[in-house]
Amino acid sequence: MKKLISDLTEYLGPKNVIIDEPDKQPYVVDWRKIISGKACAVALPSSTEEVASTVRICAAHGVSIVPQGGNTGQVAGAVPGEVGESIVMSLKRMNAIRAIDTKNNTMTVEAGCILKNLQEAANSAGRLFPLSLGAEGSCLIGGNLGTNAGGTQVLRYGNARELTIGLEVVLANGEVWSSLRGLRKDNSGYDLRDIFIGSEGTLGIITAATLRLFPQTPIRHTALAALPSVDAATELLSRCRDEAQEALTAFELISGACLRLVQQNCPDKRMPLHSIDSPWYCLIEVAHRGENGRSLENFHRIFEDVIECEQASDVLVAQSLAQAEAMWGAREMITSALAHDGKCIKHDISLPISEIPAFVRETDELLQARYPGVRNFTFGHLGDGNLHYNVARRASGDDADLHAMQPGLSLLVHDAVERRSGSISAEQGIGRIRTADLIRYKAPLELQLMWAIKRTLDPNGLLNPGVLLPSFEPWMELR
Ligand code: FAD
Repeated sequence: MKKLISDLTEYLGPKNVIIDEPDKQPYVVDWRKIISGKACAVALPSSTEEVASTVRICAAHGVSIVPQGGNTGQVAGAVPGEVGESIVMSLKRMNAIRAIDTKNNTMTVEAGCILKNLQEAANSAGRLFPLSLGAEGSCLIGGNLGTNAGGTQVLRYGNARELTIGLEVVLANGEVWSSLRGLRKDNSGYDLRDIFIGSEGTLGIITAATLRLFPQTPIRHTALAALPSVDAATELLSRCRDEAQEALTAFELISGACLRLVQQNCPDKRMPLHSIDSPWYCLIEVAHRGENGRSLENFHRIFEDVIECEQASDVLVAQSLAQAEAMWGAREMITSALAHDGKCIKHDISLPISEIPAFVRETDELLQARYPGVRNFTFGHLGDGNLHYNVARRASGDDADLHAMQPGLSLLVHDAVERRSGSISAEQGIGRIRTADLIRYKAPLELQLMWAIKRTLDPNGLLNPGVLLPSFEPWMELR
């Protein structure tokens, strides 16, 4: 290890190779503080060439690399395991916007750009970059692509994969593959880009990307509807889709319990409502350029209809930007409010939208029958069929009590997801904490194909070992 560190230090400079334990801490502990790993060093390259050379130096020493963006991931994929024989490679110094092409409607950016800065850069160029999520002030675009991030506007624009038309990637042997040509069409063979997006740093290190830009949608209508049930929420989603069509940008489901938790744990937060007494809420946004006659009156009409047929008990339509921001602010604080509440068992699941009401009803009942008193904090991107089905300790229980329940409880939830043909990871990935679930629920053939790709691109297992695929190749009987 000493020789590796001296080689890295000589190449990157001492400032860009962190070896002191306290300074390494932010890079080796994940956002949820589930994993506290060990790394012999943290390397901070600032260019594609530096990433490639760092990979070659590590490969020569047989040392693995954990690529890291903003370390906001929820499945501990950006931190090392406990053995300490890896380096963390933070991409945060690679933060240049290489080009914005308003004719091609693309921007080419380096992996270490903060997502919010990219939204602002697109905005300054008179365009929209629609990837948007609660961690946008600290997550990096490389991490967004590593996880194929979703967020709040997938309904209209798709997830990170759909927003990307080119990539530059450093491979496990230090070679650089690039498709940053700004092409919307390229059927000259397999789509290599799609293999790297969502691969959680296990197949290559993304150093840059060409991203799609869209026309701005300056007119936004935001509303918060109070609803008696998840059935009513899916019904309202259908109506909003019919009425607003592609202008429907976001449709978020939030349980009353989540909003109350935000109110309780984030007292400085300006809440959009005085009293939160409905079991469910939907946060809805329609955005457009002002054409096609879509006006505030149309938006109001959807909700008048809905209240009239008693599917919603109340609808608050934002009358100002501040009100809309209060609605989104409350939604975006849920993850932090949950972290403040203590440990929580998270499930990031995907289901056909039509299955969601029955899934929530039945799984809530099963949970209470088997683990009476646990608290559900369910929210998510209903328009994408994605729920964050979170379960927190009993009011009278503690973290140890919840920890003991975790294996059986998650099995119950994920089995219910499987019965309805869903997925155990909708947008957050597998990371270090869901590898066993992947083996249990993924079809054996799919696992074999994934292993074949991993073996081809990273034959020595140097890239993010233990993340996504377990470090050993599982025999199919494990299922
Ligand atoms: P990291 O956490 O640093 O890394 C994530 C994974 O990508 C790791 O496996 C890592 O090894 C890999 N990786 C990082 N950089 C690279 C690279 N350059 N090349 C290859 N692999 C790389 N996620 C959503 O999808 N939707 C949401 O709505 C959402 N909301 C969130 C809200 C909050 C408050 C928080 C804290 C998180 C939320 N997340 C959400 C999760 C998280 O923000 C996303 O997964 C995000 O995409 C991670 O970006 P990051 O830069 O922090 O990546």
